[in-house]
Amino acid sequence: MLVTITCPECKAEGRFSVLDQVYDGPYKCWKCRQLYYIELEGSDLKTCRLLGDEEFEKLQQLEKLKRKFKKDDEE
Ligand SMILES: [Zn+2]
Repeated sequence: MLVTITCPECKAEGRFSVLDQVYDGPYKCWKCRQLYYIELEGSDLKTCRLLGDEEFEKLQQLEKLKRKFKKDDEE
């Protein structure tokens, strides 16, 4: 599913693909490169807070793992 996220900093709209109706994890604005932690429910943005580089890296690793496991489940 593709959702559109509007960056609070620069108001750029970014397309973002999520596996489920609910997503929580890292998001990076393609335009201003700002890093966020977001929580989505459907196309509603519930939480959006700024992240530091380190925290973003960690969350991104987690997200990769989650996607990997999800993929393995489906095979
Ligand atoms: Zn931005």
